[in-house]
Amino acid sequence: KKLVEESSERRRLYNEVIELKGNIRVFCRCRPLNESEIANGSASVVNFESLPDNELQIIGSDSSRKQFKFDHVFRPEDNQEAVFAQTKPIVTSVLDGFNVCIFAYGQTGTGKTFTMEGTREHRGVNYRTLEELFRLTEERNGITKYELCVSMLEVYNEKIRDLLAENSSQPAKKLEIKQAADGTQEVPGLVEAQVNGTEDVWEMLKTGNRVRSVGSTCANELSSRSHCLLRVTVVGESLINGQRTRSHLWLVDLAGSERVGKTEAEGERLKESQFINKSLSALGDVISALASKSAHIPYRNSKLTHILQSSLGGDCKTLMFVQVSPSSADLGETLCSLNFATRVRGIESGPARKQV
Ligand code: ADP
Repeated sequence: KKLVEESSERRRLYNEVIELKGNIRVFCRCRPLNESEIANGSASVVNFESLPDNELQIIGSDSSRKQFKFDHVFRPEDNQEAVFAQTKPIVTSVLDGFNVCIFAYGQTGTGKTFTMEGTREHRGVNYRTLEELFRLTEERNGITKYELCVSMLEVYNEKIRDLLAENSSQPAKKLEIKQAADGTQEVPGLVEAQVNGTEDVWEMLKTGNRVRSVGSTCANELSSRSHCLLRVTVVGESLINGQRTRSHLWLVDLAGSERVGKTEAEGERLKESQFINKSLSALGDVISALASKSAHIPYRNSKLTHILQSSLGGDCKTLMFVQVSPSSADLGETLCSLNFATRVRGIESGPARKQV
């Protein structure tokens, strides 16, 4: 009984916070200057000094300062743990029956994969989330019985590929989005692998990444031009009243947002970049329509937003990480990403505050 009370109290407090802040959050994360940027003498164009932990300033080549404000700003020295501490309340709400979408957006090389996937030594949001979900389901053992399944798919040139369906010697099959009887979007045939612990998850991510790189001459190149979606399905059954919930958590590593120069982009590359632009702007349009409580939400403009339709909007939770580089060489792309995220969030970015 005590556990039930605790659980409903937690849920009540969580909903109160969400009501105050809304269902859409944008976090900014700035990576450190890397070795070659330091060796080249590249200066950081990002300033955090004397700013609160949700603001940053971009210093232009003419020393002008443009200030941006988000729900939180992670600085180069913030580690994976600090990032997850802020993300945890959002991802774990999937256990209470909420649908959740987390995106990493930004130019290639700014740390999208580092934030979501991370490395063995510096594990990212995906792994930490699953770890926390397993811990919580264990803790709630006796109140609710949970089952966790994971799917992994890729959207490349508006085509969906199941990354868990095939073994690495065959190309993965293509999938379509269908509307289920209850009006939600489903991808029939998508593999849902039941996972019982973090080791299962780690193995599956490895399989998915292997399939993802098949057929590409350079895995890194391809992964920066496709969206990678990890879907965690949580089925909960209350052992007290038998009530069942089914919810999805989507963890999305988006394709690189950089614009390709007109001269570089020809043939395949041009087609790819058009598909990427189209889907990233469709995502921006959907989130900003949701943030401004618009009557029409344009989900159907891309495969990405269409698949996520049932998990974006309503009382679903959305979090976008806008990833940026501190290097002066990336200034143009950094401003583009910050402007995109500002538009998405519907927050005004004002002129720089006076320095004291
Ligand atoms: P993206 O997915 O946006 O293309 P990556 O995640 O591959 O970028 O990051 C590019 C490189 O920068 C990788 O070597 C990654 O380990 C490193 N990196 C990114 N963010 C950080 C960070 N916050 N701290 C340390 N290294 C980082």
